[in-house]
Amino acid sequence: MYPNDIEAQRHPFSYSYEELKDFLAAHDFPAYRAGQLFEWWYKKGVASYEEMLNLPKDMRKLLADILPCPLPAFTHKEQAPDGTTKYQFVKNQRGFEAVYIPAVAGSKTNTLCISSQSGCPLGCRFCYTASLGAGQNLEVSEFIGQYWAIWRDLNFPKTAAEGKVTNIVFMGMGEPMLNEENVRRAAYLFNEQKGLDISSRRITISSAGILPGIERLSNTPFQLAISLNASFDEERSQVMPINKRYPLKDLVALLRRYPLPNRRRITIEYVLLNGVNDTVQDARRVADLLRGIPVKINLIRLNPHEATIYRPSTPKQVEIFQQTLMDAGYTVIVRQPRGLEAHAACGMLGAFDDAANCQEE
Ligand code: SF4
Repeated sequence: MYPNDIEAQRHPFSYSYEELKDFLAAHDFPAYRAGQLFEWWYKKGVASYEEMLNLPKDMRKLLADILPCPLPAFTHKEQAPDGTTKYQFVKNQRGFEAVYIPAVAGSKTNTLCISSQSGCPLGCRFCYTASLGAGQNLEVSEFIGQYWAIWRDLNFPKTAAEGKVTNIVFMGMGEPMLNEENVRRAAYLFNEQKGLDISSRRITISSAGILPGIERLSNTPFQLAISLNASFDEERSQVMPINKRYPLKDLVALLRRYPLPNRRRITIEYVLLNGVNDTVQDARRVADLLRGIPVKINLIRLNPHEATIYRPSTPKQVEIFQQTLMDAGYTVIVRQPRGLEAHAACGMLGAFDDAANCQEE
């Protein structure tokens, strides 16, 4: 587990490659040593300096003193029958969770959904995490630590076929734009060629609609996902109170001018809530709202839990909603829930101990 004073020290997993070079130079070590360290940490899965035998002994000893590398570790894990595994970490007596979602047959995408806060103050009314209230922001090393601890638990797979994580989504507990700087730094670290080397196309940062953070994200190469979940202001403010501060009109205007490299699209997430936001009229309004913006739309049937008043839309309603958007020219995917039995599916994080109490209808 992380030591409690992890925030007080600089953990090696918070250093970019360039920063590490500078750090080493300040201690009279040549730049190529940074490459060796990155190789050990991120290619070979070795964190203990003692095992880094291509480093001189005195350097290993000094690094253990000046840049200790306590191993990130999870406290619990639970696997659902579909192989999706939820891991709980602890920060200052508050849990936060990450979910490993292995590829389904025919796909080579192993996704890691990571948390950015140990709770969330935004209060989206379909989300379990909201019921925990605000949490703490995670440090950069705790983002990388979620990856690293799970990589170790998987026995350090080297390829996607072996189970190595190919995609990172910042869609776990918390609102990434409320921990914006650490999220951005962590995303660059996941992307670092000399390190984990995950393509920026495969790193997605999600937001409930904190506009200044989204605006700044537009200067990065990472994928943007927006949690939309309603088709007009009154409805959205009811489902997602943050809409009162950043209303739909401003959100959509920002998405319209959001710069996107060729062939990239913004992902729109839409949780379907029975009788709330799932009518044909809603689908038509969504189609009108997003007209002209390069998007792909993911529909998610609510994963029910005890902390929400909402119920999932019927499969028929989901189908009609999808078809209406497709008829309007959109790419629309209905996301199949993963990890339901482990309380690991979308909108369910934060309830580790209650997992057994929550069943699909
Ligand atoms: S959906 Fe995301 S932003 Fe909304 S309360 Fe849950 S964790 Fe926070």
